[in-house]
Amino acid sequence: MEENKDEAIVLCGSVITSTAIVPGSIKVECTDCGISVWLSPASSQLAKQFKKITPLCLSCGSKRMTAAKTTTGKILDMHITKATMDEVNTYIKQNPPGMDEKKGSVILLRTIRGDFPFQAVKAPPGVYEAYVNPHGAVSVIAENGEMLGLKPGEFEWLTKE
Ligand SMILES: [Zn+2]
Repeated sequence: MEENKDEAIVLCGSVITSTAIVPGSIKVECTDCGISVWLSPASSQLAKQFKKITPLCLSCGSKRMTAAKTTTGKILDMHITKATMDEVNTYIKQNPPGMDEKKGSVILLRTIRGDFPFQAVKAPPGVYEAYVNPHGAVSVIAENGEMLGLKPGEFEWLTKE
């Protein structure tokens, strides 16, 4: 939520990955990348308080937060509804490590954390079994048992099958 009440930035679950959809949600496009996301009824209600609603997917929301912090030093205040968090948590539970194929091992040289809103998911430096999903994304199992996606440059392959 921006201070001038002109614009409400709302984080939305992707239509492709959302598994728990709030009844009454409408399909809208992420303002930044254009993928289809679900705008929940609670988020739609924000239209009464703000002149403009800006729906963002989780990925673009994360990018904007990083950008805002870099340029203004302030954390961008966004709306993340409980429904969206529930969707996200359901998605994680339904996509356990077993879904991805084990492809060898990687080494992390520093602690890696998840992107917003998953900063609590972290993996300290060390050697990990690496899982690769059908899209080629590499993940390891974080401290809390959840999958943590790695970006290029965050890891080195030790053994690759
Ligand atoms: Zn997006």
